[in-house]
This record gives sequence, C-alpha cells and structure tokens, in this order.
Amino acid sequence: MKSRAIVQTGKRQLELQQFDIPNIGDDEGLLRIEQSGVCGSDWSQYKMGHFSGVVPGHEPIGIIEEIGSIAAQRWNVKKGDRVAVETMLPCGFCRPCVSGKYNLCIAAGEKGINAYGYHSIEIKPSLWGGHAEYMYLDPHTLLHKVSKDIAPEVAVMFNPLGAGVRWAGVLPQTKIGDVVVILGCGQRGLASVIGAKESGAKMVIVTGLGVDGHKLEIAKAFGADRTVNVEKEKIVDVVREMTNGLMADVVVEVTSGATQPVVDSLDIAGRGGRIVLAGAKYGRVPEFDSNKMMRKELTMMGALAVDFNAYESAVGIIESGKYPLELMHTHTYPLAESDLALRVLGNEVEGEHGIHVSITPE
Ligand SMILES: [Zn+2]
Ligand SMILES: [Zn+2]
Repeated sequence: MKSRAIVQTGKRQLELQQFDIPNIGDDEGLLRIEQSGVCGSDWSQYKMGHFSGVVPGHEPIGIIEEIGSIAAQRWNVKKGDRVAVETMLPCGFCRPCVSGKYNLCIAAGEKGINAYGYHSIEIKPSLWGGHAEYMYLDPHTLLHKVSKDIAPEVAVMFNPLGAGVRWAGVLPQTKIGDVVVILGCGQRGLASVIGAKESGAKMVIVTGLGVDGHKLEIAKAFGADRTVNVEKEKIVDVVREMTNGLMADVVVEVTSGATQPVVDSLDIAGRGGRIVLAGAKYGRVPEFDSNKMMRKELTMMGALAVDFNAYESAVGIIESGKYPLELMHTHTYPLAESDLALRVLGNEVEGEHGIHVSITPE
C-alpha cells in the first residue's frame, strides 16, 4: 500500500508524491491523517526552503491505523483511536529531555531536526510529515487522545491552543485577578486569550493592526475585554488608563517580525511583571532599555513550542466546547492544493484572510 504525501523540493516548490507504507514494528505506529494544521513556520519553510526533500506538517490529528503492542501500551491508545500528535521527537536522554524540557532536546542525530515535518524523505519510511495521507509514528512520538465528537477542523487546533496555554498561562504563572496584555492576534495570539482566561486573568487586552479587525473580533469572542488597533491607539496609554496606572502583570509578545512590541513590553508591564517573548523576529531589537527591567524587577522569558501538560490542557479545553474555536479556523484545503493553503496562511492570496488553515487528504 502507498500513501500520498506533499514533498517540498525547493523554494515554493511542493510536489505530490507517493511512498510505501511501512510494516509497523512493536514500538511504532501508523497514523491515518484527518487534518494537518499549517503553522507559520511551514509558511517560512515554504518561502525560504531551508529544508528540501521533506514532507512538511507537524500539527496533525488522525486515527491510529496500526500500532505495535509496545507502542499501544506506552501511548495508552489502540487502533481506531483519534490522536493529536506532538511536533517534537525528543531523544529522551539529553539533559533538557531528562529535566522535563524536551521541547529543548539537544539531540538532532542523523535525522536532522528532531521533529515531524523536517526529516528527509531519504530516511525511511519517508512519511515524516502531516501534509500526507498517512504519517509514520516513530517510537519517540508523544501523542494525546482526542474525542471523536469534535469536528476535525476544531480538534486540529490543539497545537496553537497548547501554545496559548503554555505562553499566556503556564510560563508567566498567570493567576486569578491578573491583567494580561497580548501583543499580536494571529492564531497564537488568539489562543493566548484562552490561555490567559483559563488561568484566571481578570482583564485581557489584545493588540492588532488595522487589517486585523476580524481577528480582534474573535479575540473578543474568546473573552478579551479590550482590543487595540495600534495604528490608531497607543497600547501603553490604553493599558495605563485601564489599570489605573498599575499596568500589566503579564505581557505576551507574539507578533511576527516587528521589534517595537518588545520595546513596548517594558512599559506595558507593571512592577514585578512577567514578559513572555514568543514571536520570531528578523533582526535584533534596538533601544532595549535594561534599566526598565531592573527598576521594575521585570522577568522576561523566551517561549519555544509546547509541552505535554499544555497539550493535555489544550485538548481538555477543545473537548469542553467552552470557546467558539471554530471562528479561528478559516480554511481547509486538500493535499493537492497545499500550495494555496500555504499562500493563504501567508496572506499572499488576494481577498483571503487566513487565520488557522489546515490540509486534509481528501
Ligand atoms: Zn508549528
Ligand atoms: Zn533530548
């Protein structure tokens, strides 16, 4: 039997290819993909072609098609279960792994980057990515069972939602009564609204640009108290006014590229505030005033990816049906239109406003 899969062969070059489905050993599995979330990093990989000869896609949900006896025991799932698969394939032995920070696993090994979506198709069984019909489940896989009652386009948002839980909740230790300011309203910014609310935030403020009106509406539907178009209002002034000058307990920076929000975050945070930096930048941040950090005893932390507990929480939130997550999912494309899916996510297609986009085998 064969599986179709998208292969990135160069900059902006995707090809639909076919690969043999492997025999599954005792500690492995095979996933029949239902949906594969398109990540912002898929978009930059598509544009830049950092990795060539890979099956992209590292945010898949699907059904366990085959599973070995050891894997079934380890993962506590059986054939026919629906699962969300984590991005990382941690080695399990390096220092970050054994200290519980497997998202920072050192061992890239012979497979290159130790995550789904980035292994060469030269490494058997080639099916290392979610933008495909089937994905191989390596023994190092981490996964989470998800109820089949949830619509697939909602269930597949476990990945951005896990980021929102970890970045706006767990890492900055957001607690009941906190004021949380989220800079940026892409899928991770919107998910951060939910992460903040679930952690007990009493006030959530979200920023965006003039073109982000529809995203800011979704932020409100998720529970944001105030949205700010930074082209019209100064976020620092809005926060000052809304907090009676006390400013924010937590600032989550999830804009992509822009450096000004990082500079602003030092003014938005109040005394003893925590700042989470999770948006990738193209260059260094100018005019960074470390005195502001010192005088207010700010804590600034970086955030990379999601971990097991945050994924578990995300799946729980999805299954609770508490938030209208479907508002955030804007587009689903078949494998053959992966190119379009990526360009929509990258805002390259006139008239389309992608927030969360996914690819499905059909
Ligand atoms: Zn991703
Ligand atoms: Zn490791």
